[in-house]
Amino acid sequence: MVASFAVRLIAWQREFGRHDLPWQGGDAYRVWLSEIMLQQTQVVTVIPYFLRFVVSFPNVAALAAATEEQVLEHWSGLGYYARGRNLHKAARLIVEQHDGKFPDEFEKIIELPGIGRSTAAAICALAFHQHRAILDGNVKRVLARYCGIEGWTGDKKIEAQLWQHAEDLLPKQEVAIYIQAQMDMGATLCMRSKPKCAQCPLQQDCVAYQSKRVAELPTPRPRKMIPERYATFLLLMHGNEIYLEKRAATGIWGGLWCLPQLDDGGELLAEYMLRNGMKVIERSELPPFTHTFTHFKLHITPVRLNVAHKPLRVQQTDGVWLNVDEALRAAIPTPVRMMLAQVKRHD
Ligand code: SF4
Repeated sequence: MVASFAVRLIAWQREFGRHDLPWQGGDAYRVWLSEIMLQQTQVVTVIPYFLRFVVSFPNVAALAAATEEQVLEHWSGLGYYARGRNLHKAARLIVEQHDGKFPDEFEKIIELPGIGRSTAAAICALAFHQHRAILDGNVKRVLARYCGIEGWTGDKKIEAQLWQHAEDLLPKQEVAIYIQAQMDMGATLCMRSKPKCAQCPLQQDCVAYQSKRVAELPTPRPRKMIPERYATFLLLMHGNEIYLEKRAATGIWGGLWCLPQLDDGGELLAEYMLRNGMKVIERSELPPFTHTFTHFKLHITPVRLNVAHKPLRVQQTDGVWLNVDEALRAAIPTPVRMMLAQVKRHD
């Protein structure tokens, strides 16, 4: 007789799973931080960010005491910046409402900004050894294959079925190691492409494997056209200084420092220069490139403009002139970092 799903996963985790990730050890703050960073981002990318973050903000109180600017500087390059802003808001709420102690009740954890059902459950299981099932992207993939569930896993009905399986398969004991096993399985064995079924402890009763449908499951998201947008980004230079302006708190790159952006069909470059009283002494174009967001593609044309002097009106907005090295250390999104790096290389 084949041992249960959970028994096999736990045994596999003990022998082959990951045991030295820097957030392992059960500290709720570190578990929470890692869970947020790992949403949409791979472990190898997250580790250096995580390590830098916990040096600067070793606990909830330190994070709550930081400014949003400092938090976003540490998040710069990780993408999906709402995660960083929510983390910061949540830390302040924990200080105000829970005396700085990370709550250990699921209902209180899920109330915090940026924490959904699966993340709250992961914190409960990994930090507080509570009996909770999770369903993150990796687990969805493993369960869709193991249980042979067809349909896009983002669909509410399919998701409900997967939650049911996740609950049914949850063991009564050793939940923390079981949850870690599920995460490790998804990341190291049952990957999106080329899963290592030959080494998998679930092979004997994995529906996808047994019915030769591993490549078909989980069913991909229905294709839909992603809108495409075009914009010019202005690299306004005065000597070695570049002009950055702060984005509004909400929306794409909210709260980050960006280059002035002229959207296709919006304000013209000449109008912008006139409005801000700027005189160009040299103009050059950097190679255009495309940045893909979840909901649209942005085709970016970077234009470098050396200006005769720093215009007063631009200085009075939520903007700043920084030398390029300082700008590279600020809270900036990845495409801006790429453009600044180009400027640095060419100077
Ligand atoms: S047998 Fe293959 S498809 Fe099935 S759970 Fe294991 S790795 Fe995934």
